[in-house]
Amino acid sequence: MRLTTAQATATTASPDATTTRAAATRPADPIEAPGTPEDVWAAWQGPAAFPEVDLAGLRDVVLVAAHPDDEVLGLGGTIARLAAAGVRLTLVAVTDGEASHPRSTAVTRRQLARTRRHETRRALEVLGASCTEIVHLGVPDTAVTDHEEWLTERLTRVCDGADVLAAPWSGDVHSDHEACGRAASTASHATGVPLWHYPVWTWHWAVPGDPRVPWDRAARVPLDEATRDRKRRALECFASQIHPLGRHASDAPILPPEELAHFARDYETVLR
Ligand SMILES: [Zn+2]
Repeated sequence: MRLTTAQATATTASPDATTTRAAATRPADPIEAPGTPEDVWAAWQGPAAFPEVDLAGLRDVVLVAAHPDDEVLGLGGTIARLAAAGVRLTLVAVTDGEASHPRSTAVTRRQLARTRRHETRRALEVLGASCTEIVHLGVPDTAVTDHEEWLTERLTRVCDGADVLAAPWSGDVHSDHEACGRAASTASHATGVPLWHYPVWTWHWAVPGDPRVPWDRAARVPLDEATRDRKRRALECFASQIHPLGRHASDAPILPPEELAHFARDYETVLR
């Protein structure tokens, strides 16, 4: 998700599988800065104290993704565990991520949207979650904030009666993620459905023990080796974000290995 040098020079690539950096983030925001290496996170003992999320008893979970891949980056292993337990899963795909390569000479926004919808379906299959009902909202990528009230109404309707509503964290420092997180929070309050916020960008801009992150709300979902492997293979489905789309800098990969490394851990984190 972090820009390569070539991407930064071109100032065209998006920060993740999602949006243009220029359009979705402020020029001096923390996403612009170099990210925290995964080995720094791995050396932190904090997560050992996070309580474990009890998945037992869940029957119906609604997941919100600002862009195709957020749900797998943040909660792919959890999705695999829930699917294996027979939990009913609904994915609200807020945007189609069509702005991930806004200056590409190889693909159009329309093609990207179609490709990324397909990548999500394939990833869910790999996670053993092909039964997931996907609700495509088609909100414009990078403009979720402009549709937040409408999104809140939709999420309130979709999550009513569910056991959990999971959405990108409202403090993730990415405008689309934050809008989804706020909308989910309001929907959770309106319906009484418990909310899990999941960090995505946070692992890039935060540091261990970072006071900007409410670690006291953090909980962990452990992932065994088989589940981690499923998640790794599911992330490979997002080829449009991992491999070059063409030969120009504007077609460079959005998810380099150093960013994907944050999502290969043996646990996933939610803020409750
Ligand atoms: Zn995203």
